[in-house]
Amino acid sequence: MLTDTQREHPSLTPGEIGEENTPSVPSPAWSWVQAALLVLGLAIFAGLLWLPTLGLHAVWNVLIPVAPLLFVFFPGLWRNICPLATFALLPRKLGFSVQRRMSSRTNQALRWGAVAALLLIVPLRHVILDVSGPATAGLLVMAAAVAFSIGCVFDWKSGWCSSLCPVQPVELLYGRRPLVEFQNPRCSSCVNCTQICNDSDPERARAVGDHGGMGPLEFLTAGFPGFIWAWFQVPNFRPEYSRLDHTLEAFGLPLLGFLLSALLYNLLRYRLLPNEGKALGRLFATVAVVVYYWYRLPFLVGFSPTAPDGMLVDLTQWLPGWAPYLMRALTSILLVLWLLPHERGQRPWLVRPPYSYERGTSAAHLPPT
Ligand code: SF4
Repeated sequence: MLTDTQREHPSLTPGEIGEENTPSVPSPAWSWVQAALLVLGLAIFAGLLWLPTLGLHAVWNVLIPVAPLLFVFFPGLWRNICPLATFALLPRKLGFSVQRRMSSRTNQALRWGAVAALLLIVPLRHVILDVSGPATAGLLVMAAAVAFSIGCVFDWKSGWCSSLCPVQPVELLYGRRPLVEFQNPRCSSCVNCTQICNDSDPERARAVGDHGGMGPLEFLTAGFPGFIWAWFQVPNFRPEYSRLDHTLEAFGLPLLGFLLSALLYNLLRYRLLPNEGKALGRLFATVAVVVYYWYRLPFLVGFSPTAPDGMLVDLTQWLPGWAPYLMRALTSILLVLWLLPHERGQRPWLVRPPYSYERGTSAAHLPPT
């Protein structure tokens, strides 16, 4: 658990706040869980190729629906066990990363790239990913290859986990109030690999590029509620559809939803409520995740006009007709009560370990607090 001082100043190391500045020793249990997740990831990959129905269910109807809830309550847990992060850190652990320190300009550009990749990949689900095991397997291979390659150049998590990973903007969007702050087993000591560390200071990571204009995270926050709502209005591709018309609909409708949501956000943020930026950010993030589960939970058990799209198991014969309303009410109340209230002080997802001096890290390299 964090002390009050750590909670108020998440950028500071234990040494800076008067605690023992010794490397933290990660629990071996984390290594076992990371290895287990890697094996599970490889098994899912094999399933996508040889048992595609099973593999597609595992990725799109189990892992992805659980992810937003994980990001809301335990963002640090996913950061500690994500198999793609394991790939990204492999070059450093094996000793052949050139360990470049990323400039803030590059970091900002890659964060924009992550948002663009997210907005491209999600509509692609309706076009091909949700119905094709090999296509989803190809996406995972591509992501692992990019994570590994960028890890060969940039140090620790700076290349992938805190910049180009298309999932990290969603982690930042929803991970505003972690229930638990975990230790950071991937960094036994901090080499200050990036000026803004998502794990140690998500509040500052959310503000990257916000000076004098919209940064990538605010851009995503503005448009994501409309994007998600519109995404659920599009069915998966079926052979009887025109490929071109369906592709235009799969991309066009969510992007139109994004645009309308962003226009509303801009009106509120820059005209009507200019001093309520943080509250608006929380509101739009909450609406986005509420809309997601509003549709996703009933769809999972077969209550969907586009069934069997997104259905894990058909329970429509067993559940009463009002079950979807109950699911929606319970998840919406839980998420609104958890995410909307103002939280005093910044809360990290992971406790920043003591700084390492292996590369001459000095006060000049320490991030501003
Ligand atoms: S804790 Fe330090 S080394 Fe680890 S990701 Fe954050 S900035 Fe990089």
